[in-house]
Amino acid sequence: MKPSLKIAMIASECVPFAKTGGLADVVGALPKALRALGHDVIVILPKYSAILDGQFNLRPTLGPIGVWMGNGQEWCAVHTSDYDSVPVYFIESNKYFDRWGLYYDADFNDYQDNSRRFGFFTRAALQLCRDLGFAPDIVHAHDWQTALAPAYLKIWHWNDPVLGGAASVLTIHNIAYQGVYHASDYDYLGLQRGNFTADKFEDHGKINFLKGGIYYADIVNTVSPTFANETRTPEYAHGLAPYLNNKGDNYVGILNGADTERWDPSVDPLIPERYSPANLAGKAVCKRALQRRFLLDVNPKVPVIGVISRLVPQKGLDLLAQTIESIVTNMVVQFVILGAGDKGMEAFYGNLPARYPGRIGSYIGYNEENSHWIEAGADLFLMPSIFEPCGLNQIYSLKYGTLPIVRATGGLDDTIQQYDERTGAGTGFKFLAPTARAIYYTTGWAVSTYYDRPQHIQQMVQAAMAQDYSWGSSARMYLQTYQKALDNKANG
Ligand code: ADP
Repeated sequence: MKPSLKIAMIASECVPFAKTGGLADVVGALPKALRALGHDVIVILPKYSAILDGQFNLRPTLGPIGVWMGNGQEWCAVHTSDYDSVPVYFIESNKYFDRWGLYYDADFNDYQDNSRRFGFFTRAALQLCRDLGFAPDIVHAHDWQTALAPAYLKIWHWNDPVLGGAASVLTIHNIAYQGVYHASDYDYLGLQRGNFTADKFEDHGKINFLKGGIYYADIVNTVSPTFANETRTPEYAHGLAPYLNNKGDNYVGILNGADTERWDPSVDPLIPERYSPANLAGKAVCKRALQRRFLLDVNPKVPVIGVISRLVPQKGLDLLAQTIESIVTNMVVQFVILGAGDKGMEAFYGNLPARYPGRIGSYIGYNEENSHWIEAGADLFLMPSIFEPCGLNQIYSLKYGTLPIVRATGGLDDTIQQYDERTGAGTGFKFLAPTARAIYYTTGWAVSTYYDRPQHIQQMVQAAMAQDYSWGSSARMYLQTYQKALDNKANG
């Protein structure tokens, strides 16, 4: 492998600039880890209106750049920030990105022109590499929003002096969102008519961004080995299993890491008191503060179960809704729930504190500080996902000594070791059935362990906090994948 690779990371989210989910955490952390290993990485993002120039020290860079779309040239401006150690470029197009949200409006309605917005952004990002003279060895695309990058490289830039040497990697963070849009936008995207076929972009008469990206990428990966296996089957692949299977061993699973600069209780600036495995006194302080903030009975002896999640069916929280009232009625336990999404679920979880005062607290909305407080202050963390490509909160929970209760699927299964009641080994509590009943009984198992076998809980907390899911080893696996992508490209 070359000692130093040039990598262009093109994505629609990146912490701390724009985030709706785990994609942003990954794009915020992986480039830093790659740079620490000696590689030259740039990140390219859309300039959403929520990204404020003053906050991140954004500066205009280059002149306006021209981007060829299917119907002619369009223009955009470019800004840059070295807010972190990695250079980040922002594509400014007021027409497409001067909006309230990233993908949808305040009522969760998708923007009607999302295919144009992200098609344009992706082509503009490649054009930016040309205008900067940044000749990447690897173009790394993420999810449907930038899945067209591998296609543009092969269809248009195979012979380009700057982009012609680039191999492409496409990472699937969530296969449920594929970017499926009306075919009337196909010509605008400039992907050539002849490629609108069922093996590439065509999907029941519509355009499917992710499907096309899978076809063209030199390597495709998802974010855990188990989810890579699961998505080779129709049950988990949302229609894409045949296309992923066509990739053979060019479809792999690489577990995400956790950004330990942001998620480590011994350095976390957001939590009420810091703590470490050697001294857990601060965790008790965090628990008391959490109980106070969420108006729970302040009692160190009652286990607190945390939930932080997008409120969507994928996360299994409609199943929890069927059983949470039985849990708090039949067990002496408290819940703190942080989430936003489905309006029905927002109303349900938002009303629970009034109906179960002192036992359930909730915050409906997106709130970074609360998410850190819950990781630090809760005893247990519930994540009953129906499918989970990797999942980050259970990894953060391990680091914060907050034992996960999870459904054994995807990355949840890969990262949590089942509790062994005879020895006290393990790092959490796992169940398989995607049912309210399984959530009820597994929560009961965790709660009874908390009361009846406290020495096992202490042992598991130590084992959990000792797990190493920092980005170093995941970044090394990405480097191996980049090399394989370069080999694939070289071998045609
Ligand atoms: P996904 O990407 O499917 O939403 P992940 O577990 O991979 O799930 O990542 C979710 C990320 O978003 C985590 O960093 C989590 O803390 C954060 N998050 C989710 N909902 C909220 C919320 N309401 N407030 C603050 N952070 C949230």
